[in-house]
Amino acid sequence: MKKYTCEICGTEFTMENEEFCVPHKDTERNDICPGCYDSGIKCVQCDAVLTGEQMESPYENDDNEVMCDDCYEDEYMSVCPICEDSFEKSRKLEDGYYFAITKEAVEDSGVMYNGENMKPGIYKALEYPMYRADIVFGFNYFYDNTIELVVKNDFPNGGSYCEEICSECVEEYKNEQNKNKLRK
Ligand SMILES: [Zn+2]
Ligand SMILES: [Zn+2]
Ligand SMILES: [Zn+2]
Repeated sequence: MKKYTCEICGTEFTMENEEFCVPHKDTERNDICPGCYDSGIKCVQCDAVLTGEQMESPYENDDNEVMCDDCYEDEYMSVCPICEDSFEKSRKLEDGYYFAITKEAVEDSGVMYNGENMKPGIYKALEYPMYRADIVFGFNYFYDNTIELVVKNDFPNGGSYCEEICSECVEEYKNEQNKNKLRK
C-alpha cells in the first residue's frame, strides 16, 4: 500500500478507503490527507487546497468563491500587448474596457466600423456585445456605435493585434495625446 505524507499535518496516510485512490493536492501539487483536505480552503475551479501563502488573502471570483492564484490568473488576468505587464481584465463595462487595435491589424483584417475603414488606436467599449464573432472565422466585425476611439495611434512596430490593454497604458496614451494637442 502506497503511503503519502500530508504537506499540511505531516502525517503518513494511505488512500485505501477513499473514493479516489490518489490523494488530493494543494496548489503546488503536494499530497494532502483527507482530513486536511476537508478542513482546508479549496479552489472552486481546480479543487486544490490553497497553500499557506495563498490562504492569507485568497482571490475570489465574481460569486465570492475562493480561487487559487493559477486559476484566477487564467480566468481574470491578461498580459497587456503594449507594456507586457499582467493586469486584471475588465469584468464589467462600468469599470471600463479598453482595447488597442494596431495599424497592421486593421490592414490585415480590413475591418470597417460605422461604414468607414477602422482607425487604429485605443477604443473604449460603450456596450456589450460590441462585436460579432463566429466559431469558424473568429472575429467578424464591430456593431455600429458600440465602441469609441479615445486615442488615435498607429502603434508602429506594434505588430498585429486587437486586444484588451491595461489601464496604465490607456492613461499614458491619453496623456501623450493631450500633450500633442496642446503643442499644436
Ligand atoms: Zn493532513
Ligand atoms: Zn485552482
Ligand atoms: Zn499596458
